[in-house]
Amino acid sequence: MNDTERPTWCDINLTALEHNYKAVQAHVGNTQVMPIVKADAYGHGLIQVAQKLQDLNTSCLGVAYVEEGIALRQGGITTPIHVLGGAVARQIPLFLEHNLTFTAPSVDKLHQINEAAKTANTTATVHLKIDTGMERIGVHHYNADTLFEAALQCPSVNVEGVFTHFASADHPDLAFARLQLERFLEALEFYSRHSLPTPKRHIANSAAVMALPESHLDLVRPGLLMYGVAPTTDTPHQIELQPVLSWRSEVIYFKVVEAGNPVSYGSTWAPEKPTRVVTLPVGYADGYRRALSNKAQVIINDNLHNVVGKVCMDQTMVDIKATSAYNGDQAVLIGSSGTHQITVEDLARWSDTIPYEILTAITARVPRRWHP
Ligand SMILES: *Cc1c(COP(=O)(O)O)cnc(C)c1O
Repeated sequence: MNDTERPTWCDINLTALEHNYKAVQAHVGNTQVMPIVKADAYGHGLIQVAQKLQDLNTSCLGVAYVEEGIALRQGGITTPIHVLGGAVARQIPLFLEHNLTFTAPSVDKLHQINEAAKTANTTATVHLKIDTGMERIGVHHYNADTLFEAALQCPSVNVEGVFTHFASADHPDLAFARLQLERFLEALEFYSRHSLPTPKRHIANSAAVMALPESHLDLVRPGLLMYGVAPTTDTPHQIELQPVLSWRSEVIYFKVVEAGNPVSYGSTWAPEKPTRVVTLPVGYADGYRRALSNKAQVIINDNLHNVVGKVCMDQTMVDIKATSAYNGDQAVLIGSSGTHQITVEDLARWSDTIPYEILTAITARVPRRWHP
């Protein structure tokens, strides 16, 4: 849907993205930065975000799926793209066709990549994936040698990098993250033992970029930080970030609800005395989560107000008490207005989830307006 007249929309501030990218780059010094743009750039628009980062001369971009890599190529992005997730065998030729960097999470997959590259008369660029404690994809750190040795026998594969992923770099207790880093570095000793050059080593996500500088190694993979959001409130805020996304709607209905009359499905809320309630054209099918019912706040005319009753699929009610609001007045769901601010982190807290889920839940029904 590209109807930008809809009275519910997201503004994407690409200048803030630039600020965050540069702030992260400054924070990690000489370490390479690979901004992560998977999941439609965390809801910010895959191509628009990637194009901005490419204009800033980013050396590479990271996505989760080969489909996202292909979409970037079709959108005109020429920067190297690393597909971080696994791929099924039938997708391997697509990587080669679109010049995408592989993740090899097993010896089998590595062999399949090598064969496919040989058949296509080309060389596949590959990052080997080691599992140091996430138990998701990758060869276990205690078997990493088998993957490293197999790669040496694959002439059609160029091992550009070796990487692993933190399970809990966003915890206040970093003991497990430190253990994972230790396991990773120990596995990588394979290269020095065999007097071979070590490929590019990377492990750090956003939380580790902030909280664990010794994990920066050769390259960092920040996603959430690019969008100006901190992974958790536990993570120290060492980088000054600017939120990239804001979300606004407009009042489309005003009424007075009499005392005791319940609002919305399930009658979960009713005012104790007559109150003014406005309706916003946004609901859980837009990604304004039902878990926000009777929890979230919005800003209307510089006042913070409560969402009341259950959030519906397409509409949400707000108690504006004795203040006034007219049809067409703006309501801020995420963003700032006057002296108030509502952050992605606030919505995550109110709905008992993480900021990632808030951002990636905003559906395609909500038009995005990009601001250079
Ligand atoms: C998504 C992802 C990242 C980025 O994570 P953030 O917490 O958003 O920084 C980094 N590495 C891998 C492998 C990922 O899947």
